[in-house]
Amino acid sequence: MQRTLILLKPDCFQRRLVGEILSRFERKGLNIVAMKLIQVTPELSKQHYAEHAEKPFYPSLEDFITSAPVVALALEGLDAIAVVREMLGATNGLKAAPGTIRGDFSSSRQMNLVHASDSPESAARELDLYFSKEEFVDSKDELARFMR
Ligand code: ADP
Ligand code: MG
Repeated sequence: MQRTLILLKPDCFQRRLVGEILSRFERKGLNIVAMKLIQVTPELSKQHYAEHAEKPFYPSLEDFITSAPVVALALEGLDAIAVVREMLGATNGLKAAPGTIRGDFSSSRQMNLVHASDSPESAARELDLYFSKEEFVDSKDELARFMR
């Protein structure tokens, strides 16, 4: 089992696509093991996007990601990191394949709706940026014992 860090970016929130996209992850069989609504600060953006800090698009990316709330969540499942990246599609919504989240809902390379960790190393780092240990729940079926 793996855990991966997902952000439903400001465009997702502003376009009321949060439910639609969470629903895709749920239907795939991934478990939500942590989730909250937050406003990303410039400091958090710089940490999150450290690998892009020197890129020409970074100032615009920071402006965008701090512009409205994001939903931060952790998904758990078999091979979850690669599975979720496949579900997102290519970075640029104009190029992402139909059937992927970005391919179906985004026409922008910046406003591409969802962030997901791209490797076990980045997942560990990013999960730690957004969540403390106590914020994770056990994903096993706690309701089974109430079936009567
Ligand atoms: P991904 O989110 O697919 O891992 P990257 O790590 O390359 O993509 O880029 C991080 C985020 O920065 C992208 O999701 C997108 O929002 C934004 N971005 C990437 N490239 C550009 C660009 N050329 N111009 C504007 N924004 C970009
Ligand atoms: Mg990336």
